[in-house]
Amino acid sequence: MGDAQEYLRFEVIGSVEHCEAPLLVHVPHAARHIPVEIRPSLLLSDAELEIEQSRVTDHLTDQLFGPAARGGVCFVNRISRLVFDPERFRSDEDEVMASRGVGAVYFGTSDGRALRSPAFSREERESILRTFYDPYASAVTDIVDALLARFGRCMIVDGHSYPSQPFSWELRARAPRPEVDLGTDAFHTPPELVSDLEALLKGRGVSFAKDVPFAGSYVPLEHLNKDRRVASVMLELRRDTYCYEDSGERLHMRCIDTSRTFWTSARSRSVFLNLRTT
Ligand SMILES: [Zn+2]
Repeated sequence: MGDAQEYLRFEVIGSVEHCEAPLLVHVPHAARHIPVEIRPSLLLSDAELEIEQSRVTDHLTDQLFGPAARGGVCFVNRISRLVFDPERFRSDEDEVMASRGVGAVYFGTSDGRALRSPAFSREERESILRTFYDPYASAVTDIVDALLARFGRCMIVDGHSYPSQPFSWELRARAPRPEVDLGTDAFHTPPELVSDLEALLKGRGVSFAKDVPFAGSYVPLEHLNKDRRVASVMLELRRDTYCYEDSGERLHMRCIDTSRTFWTSARSRSVFLNLRTT
C-alpha cells in the first residue's frame, strides 16, 4: 500500500499547546477521498460509488462543527468512511455493526449490496487498519492525553450528520429521525451535559432525541470505560436540515450559518465545557 503521505489523512486544527479549553471536536465522516490504491478493492462502478459516497458522507460536518472547536482542537478525518471507519471497534468481534457489513472496514453498502468482494482478504483488511485506522486512533488518543495533562479533563464533541431515510444496516431503522440526535455513553456522558443540551435545543425549537436513532459517542479505546475525566457527546444533525441529501450540496448558506452560530454560541460553548452559567 506504500507509505507515501501524498494526501492528507487527517487534519488537526488548533493545538493543545495553544488552546484555551479542553475541547476536542471530532469530525470522522466528512470526507469523500478514496486513495487510488484503495479504489480497485471497491466493487462499485464510478457512478455507483459517487451515489454511495453521497449517501454515507456526513456532508459539510467539518464546516458545521469545526468552528465549535474555537478555543479548543478540531480533529477531522480526510479519508472516506468507505476506506475505514474510525468510530468502529478495530476487531469485528467487538463491533456490533460488523455483522451488518459495516465494521471498521465496510463490506456492504448503505443499501445492502457488496462493497468489497468476499475474496478481500484478512491481510488486506489488516493493511487498511494499519495504514489508516491505527495512526488515526493514536493521534486522537495523543490529543486526549495532552488535553488531560494540561487541563485535567477533556470534552469530546463527536460531530456527525445522518440521512432522513435509514441506511439498510441501521439497528433502529424504524425509530424517529429528529433534527438532532444526541448520542450518549453511560460512562462518559455527564447527565447534566445532556440536560443542558436538551434545554438548549428546546429553546431553539429544534426537534431532538437522546440516542435515537443512533446511540453512543466516540471515546478513544485507551480511555473508554476507564477515565471519567474524558467526557463525550455525539451530535448527529439530520442532513435535510442543511443540505441536498443527493449531492451533499448545502441548501443555503443561511442553514450552515444558523447551525454554526448555534454550536459556537457562548451558551453552547459553556454547555460543551460543562460550565453551568445559569
Ligand atoms: Zn457520521
